[in-house]
Amino acid sequence: MPLSREFDYLPPPDCSLPMPGCRVRAPFGRRREVGVVLAHADKSALASNRIRACTDVIDETPILSAAELRLIRFTSDYYHHPIGEVVAAALPALLRQGRALHPTVETIALSTSGESADIEALVRRAPKQAELIEFLIDAGSAGCEADRLTEELPNWRRTAKALFEKGYLERFYARAADFDERLGVAPVEPPTLNDHQQQALSTLRGSDRFDAFLLDGVTGSGKTEVYLARMHDMVRQHKQVLVLAPEIGLTPQLVARLRKRLGIEPAVLHSSLSDNERLAAWRAARSGAARLIVGTRSSIFTPLKNPGLIIVDEEHDHSFKQQEGLRYSARDLAIVRAKQLDVPVILGSATPTLEMLHHCHEGRYRHLSLPARAGGARPPAMRLVDLLRSPATDGLSEPLASAIERHLDAGGQALIFLNRRGFAPTLICGSCGHVAGCQRCDSRLTVHARSKALRCHHCGASRPLDEHCGECGSTVKPLGEGTERLEDALRARFPDRVIMRVDSDSTQRKGAIQEVLGQAKEGEADILVGTQMLSKGHHFPHLTLVGVVNADQGLFGTDFRSAERMAQSILQVAGRAGRESRPGEVLIQTAFAEHAFWQTLIAGGYQKVADEALAERKRTGWPPFTRLALIRASAHDRNDALEFLEVARRLAARNPANLLRVLGPVDAPMARKAGRYRAQLLLQSGERKALHAVLAQLRVALEENRISRKVRWSIDVDPIELF
Ligand code: ADP
Ligand code: ZN
Ligand code: ZN
Repeated sequence: MPLSREFDYLPPPDCSLPMPGCRVRAPFGRRREVGVVLAHADKSALASNRIRACTDVIDETPILSAAELRLIRFTSDYYHHPIGEVVAAALPALLRQGRALHPTVETIALSTSGESADIEALVRRAPKQAELIEFLIDAGSAGCEADRLTEELPNWRRTAKALFEKGYLERFYARAADFDERLGVAPVEPPTLNDHQQQALSTLRGSDRFDAFLLDGVTGSGKTEVYLARMHDMVRQHKQVLVLAPEIGLTPQLVARLRKRLGIEPAVLHSSLSDNERLAAWRAARSGAARLIVGTRSSIFTPLKNPGLIIVDEEHDHSFKQQEGLRYSARDLAIVRAKQLDVPVILGSATPTLEMLHHCHEGRYRHLSLPARAGGARPPAMRLVDLLRSPATDGLSEPLASAIERHLDAGGQALIFLNRRGFAPTLICGSCGHVAGCQRCDSRLTVHARSKALRCHHCGASRPLDEHCGECGSTVKPLGEGTERLEDALRARFPDRVIMRVDSDSTQRKGAIQEVLGQAKEGEADILVGTQMLSKGHHFPHLTLVGVVNADQGLFGTDFRSAERMAQSILQVAGRAGRESRPGEVLIQTAFAEHAFWQTLIAGGYQKVADEALAERKRTGWPPFTRLALIRASAHDRNDALEFLEVARRLAARNPANLLRVLGPVDAPMARKAGRYRAQLLLQSGERKALHAVLAQLRVALEENRISRKVRWSIDVDPIELF
């Protein structure tokens, strides 16, 4: 279990002192836990007869280097979070559990009699057994790791039982296979870079030491080609490159592109790896066997033997910020780590965050821009559909419908974007006006027509869909539209076309998302309808039209980041249109066509939206001109949460008001979620140091306060969601 502070131990008796970065086992209370040596101390606050000794040392040599321990310590200090949890985040599960860095793994192979089994006969009598045998034939004499079998054939153990009895299978424990990055194929030649790309690349080539670069290029401008060229320089010098990609941006497509262009296999770290696979990739990064390491958020902590470059692709993406537990930003830590390692970091985006743009304006980071699409593709033309003049039925307006028709007739493909899954966001009674709400949250239930259920998207609660009002028994009706309803509307209008819906409901099965996207890219679907999932980083060669339905959701947002977010999400999805020779078109349905936001976006693009938003934030004192920290508390009883935050407020208010503004405590925008009341306190300061000094004091004082036992609380430094 991760612990909130460091603990003093003696080395195990008759054993030399383990180096920092080595794991040890140590008594803790009545248990024995795995710990990591963080530092050697020559004195302790504990009386010498009270210091216990470690029982054994797991690692002869450190598994975390001094550089990695430095990043861990920084993360703990900056996010005011227990260092034990940061160490836990930095280590693969097997290492946390105390397994060897090079564990042996359960491996299954065919025995000699298994190899000569009569498959034909088995196929008829016991098809599952035949399937397992065939799988193991393909695996060859080295056999297959049990973990992989579990992944490919989930119930293989049950099947294997009979085969073991027949003597067809063998089980042994082998040292886990080492990562080998050799592919045996030569890298594919890159395209000739255009002038902008060339210029960006030569600036990048000018620095081997720390420097932060914002690679700001419209979608399809060839940012990836620029990264690839710089990565190529690095791997040729046998330096390692760490690439961070967003959760859903880390597609097989990106990995395949890296493989093809660099001619080596990347070590990939993402959420669906088995524990052994994760450890193998981690080990390869640590030993230097992998020169290219690609991963999502948590791979920022991966050890590197010979670091040369860090890249953050799509730096604006929210999945870089962890929203629970250790609330770190992998994007921000990438910059810190690059600085600690004295290597360059490249942050790429078509819609950079205002934080990054501000750093560039201040001269701290270097701004590289790619203003035009590469390879001759033109930027898509963007226009509004005024819903007051052309009302929509089930989300679809006539101008959008006829544009779809026009594009499909011309051989193109259409993507219709609606960031709301389900059939309708609200279920209302036609006679008494009762709205179906969640019993555990302050939220409405979403109608899911396909699964005939009402679901809460906040706590996951679900109940069967009833056509009658729970209050008066009259007929209820769904209000508003989600992707299911929009899909129905499109099917009614285009009965002969192939329509695919892509959202987290339609892609629950493992591998389903890749399958659907693969088909979509091949041009097998005429119309794609879906959520965010469709908007990130994908390249659909045939796609020429993007329709944005219900774009108004963010126009009146209360968050100071609303405009920035909305521009990002619209431009990211718009960027899917017309990436090849055929020009793209983007239609945005809005009931507020006169709203200043649209005028700015359409006339000036992202840059203008960003400039205006920055000017406004400067006026109003929001980030990046100030720093924020949010203290959240939740409890079964609302008063406990508020009382806790009131204690925090009083502590914080002891600081001079010109250094620190304290806002709240207030109820969270959704005060009740999953049966708990939530409230928050916002701290704002123009001085980062002042803010952090207050947070450090606050954390200690709050941990010691009795009221903290009644609440769940957290500190969120640089929050990106203010609730
Ligand atoms: P981004 O990462 O900015 O979205 P990509 O690097 O994926 O852009 O490039 C978009 C498309 O343009 C890809 O198909 C890529 O192969 C192509 N491309 C990029 N640079 C060039 C170039 N200099 N010449 C020709 N095609 C290019
Ligand atoms: Zn009713
Ligand atoms: Zn709920």
